[in-house]
Amino acid sequence: MYDVIIIGGGPAGLTAATYAQRAGKSSLVIEKNGFGGQISWSPKVENFPGFVSISGSELGDRFLEQAMEQGAEVELDEVTAIEDGEIKKVKCLSGAEFEAKAVIIATGAKPRMLGLPHEDELVGSGVGFCAVCDGAFYKGKAVAVNGGGNSALQDAILLSETCSRVYLIHRRDSFRGEAKLVDVLSKKSNVEFVMNASIEALEGENELTGVVVTGGRRIALDGLFVAIGHEPDNGAFSGLIELDDKGYSASDERCLTRTAGIFTAGDCRRKAVRQVTTAVADGATAALAACSYIDSL
Ligand code: NAP
Repeated sequence: MYDVIIIGGGPAGLTAATYAQRAGKSSLVIEKNGFGGQISWSPKVENFPGFVSISGSELGDRFLEQAMEQGAEVELDEVTAIEDGEIKKVKCLSGAEFEAKAVIIATGAKPRMLGLPHEDELVGSGVGFCAVCDGAFYKGKAVAVNGGGNSALQDAILLSETCSRVYLIHRRDSFRGEAKLVDVLSKKSNVEFVMNASIEALEGENELTGVVVTGGRRIALDGLFVAIGHEPDNGAFSGLIELDDKGYSASDERCLTRTAGIFTAGDCRRKAVRQVTTAVADGATAALAACSYIDSL
């Protein structure tokens, strides 16, 4: 049995593991995709204190290395349920089951989809969510990025370095992301801003060939990167924690949910600012609260 099981191996979860270990508690981090979390897909992070500039994947690797150096154990598996009790049972897709005195849910968020017909079939065949991972396949080709946040702006900058043409399609007339990134893009001759436009249709049978945007304009494309934000992934825990109307977990300032011994940290949690800095802060808070809870048992 572990003292703490942490579900999710992003910045929040790995920081929680580091703090739990340093408080003398054993910890297991269970991650379903890849350790490091969403930030691993950011080509450059320039707002994490202590690093003037670092790639997201290197930052994610460092979080993992630090937690493991402190003695945290890690597993690649998907948690499908938590059975509550003084000892919590954490059940995984593989059939594995783990026990702990406290659980920290740090499941982050998954990319939001457009919700258009044929989108599912075109994912991986022209439609993608990660320019860092798949951008190289579109060298010399025409691509679009949809969204107006930092992810979309960063994706567009990255793609503009190798693609012949990059359309940045955004539903409003101004961007949510940083002005500095918008400035970089506005100076690129192969980038076109398509503003006040939503994608209304995806074209192509087995491969994406283009999109139709608001007003009926058709844009021929080889690739489309959807970067319209993220949604929490808390569904499996809805019986034990309170979720708001968007699916984010409710907790108090100690990151405690409505169930004793179950804490929540990072982007999956209801809060005002979702950044790596706030995720690591949650991780520390949740871990220390979990340690106090264990000591009180
Ligand atoms: P975000 O900031 O929530 O931006 C999502 C964008 O998608 C917004 O522009 C939004 O439009 C648009 N959008 C949402 N739903 C849509 C829909 N159904 N159809 C069309 N457009 C839609 O998400 P993000 O860019 O993924 O960033 C998430 C967080 O991570 C942010 O806090 C961001 O600053 C941070 N981040 C940081 C870094 C970094 O520091 N290196 C890199 C990437 C992301 P509206 O603006 O009209 O709402």
